[in-house]
Amino acid sequence: MAFEGLSDRLQQSIKKIKGKGKVSEQDVKEMSREVRLALLEADVNFKVVKDFVKRIRERSVGEEVMSSLTPGQQVIKIVKDELTELMGGNESKIAVSKRSPTVVMMVGLQGAGKTTTTGKLANLLRKSYNRQPLLAAADVYRPAAIQQLETLGSQLDMPVHSQGTEADPVDIAKQAVEQAKEEHHDYVIIDTAGRLHVDGDLMGELQRIKDAVEPDEIFLVVDAMTGQDAVNVAESFDEQLDITGVLLTKLDGDTRGGAALSIKAVTGKPIKFAGMGEKLDQLEPFHPERMASRILGMGDMLSLIDKAQTQVDEKQAKDLESKMRNASFTFEDFLEQMEQVKNMGPLDEIVNMIPGANKMKGLQNASFDDKQIVHVEAIIQSMTKKERLDPSLMNASRKKRIAKGAGRSVSEVNRLLKQFEDMKKMMKQMSNTKGKKGKGMKFP
Ligand code: GDP
Repeated sequence: MAFEGLSDRLQQSIKKIKGKGKVSEQDVKEMSREVRLALLEADVNFKVVKDFVKRIRERSVGEEVMSSLTPGQQVIKIVKDELTELMGGNESKIAVSKRSPTVVMMVGLQGAGKTTTTGKLANLLRKSYNRQPLLAAADVYRPAAIQQLETLGSQLDMPVHSQGTEADPVDIAKQAVEQAKEEHHDYVIIDTAGRLHVDGDLMGELQRIKDAVEPDEIFLVVDAMTGQDAVNVAESFDEQLDITGVLLTKLDGDTRGGAALSIKAVTGKPIKFAGMGEKLDQLEPFHPERMASRILGMGDMLSLIDKAQTQVDEKQAKDLESKMRNASFTFEDFLEQMEQVKNMGPLDEIVNMIPGANKMKGLQNASFDDKQIVHVEAIIQSMTKKERLDPSLMNASRKKRIAKGAGRSVSEVNRLLKQFEDMKKMMKQMSNTKGKKGKGMKFP
């Protein structure tokens, strides 16, 4: 998972100070040293680290901590606030132009994920903002780049403006804006050419496109896995093109975090979206505060709720709640739930969004294997409908048949049945305590 090392080390650094009723300068000094090392190890820009640690240190020995009743907690709040600021403070939204269409130009090095992200951004604009984008294929050099964008367009059922590989990219961009006007698209997203390295010819061409279509946004797509290189690339593109924002891809990989934590401070330009996987729905608005919270192990319930809201049908959720309340939840419902959870992404990522999950006993060293879900699904699918609705029918021969059908062992079938019974018992208890003050579920 992204940020894993940084997250562990930062949590270690703040652990000692957390519960302190009194925070000495020495405590702050020690913590700062550890925070500094954690950031450097995560490949955060040296100067950024220096400034960051200086600010934490100054604030931690200042009035706000010393006069606080919970100084330890106050220091942690400072670290979180500063981490949030480092990544840009507030969420930075995509521009909406007064003229239509809003023109977005995508730039970046080859392999950063520019073409894929063009498709993802269009998808997000339509799904979450109800926009109707037109895509434009202005990368005429990379073999198959145009075809790649056309394929994405057809997967998304979205039009793509292309004029083949012989046309001039500046003309393609201009014509695309014209087509968008005529066909009443409110966004046009132009995929431009990339190179393996920043070079003068490329920048010249991008500059000409910029002059011709006067984009509202120039988004630089950078690969989070390339760490400091991503920051250098961002600096050069910004110098030449005055970019308006950064789209950070591959945050689902095991990036150490350097790019995410340095780009805003070095370039002054915000990260607007983050790529969390190869699929077309895996682009998310970048929320600095939620990210800081996740890095410090405080969870990210808001993103979890966002994710759930895009995957879970409201009526289904209400039905489910009432089934839970009167404990009439069956294996059929369980199967449906698993489908929805699966759509939300890899399990360990989801678990990490729960506040305090990293401290919950049993979850600490658990590895969440998505294959487990597949096994459980196979077991439930091997049950007859009658069995799914009424597990009390289960006897030895039925269990044997189910295990065989699913290609799993009888003991796994038994384990699932037991877990299901336990879950129902818990639901019953929860619905009984509901309404009684102080007895509900509480997050740590
Ligand atoms: P371009 O040369 O910049 O246009 O790059 P592409 O769009 O062709 O992407 C290069 C590779 O990165 C492809 O294999 C993409 O699937 C992959 N990719 C793009 N964004 C992400 C992301 O957020 N996560 C992961 N894991 N892979 C990504």
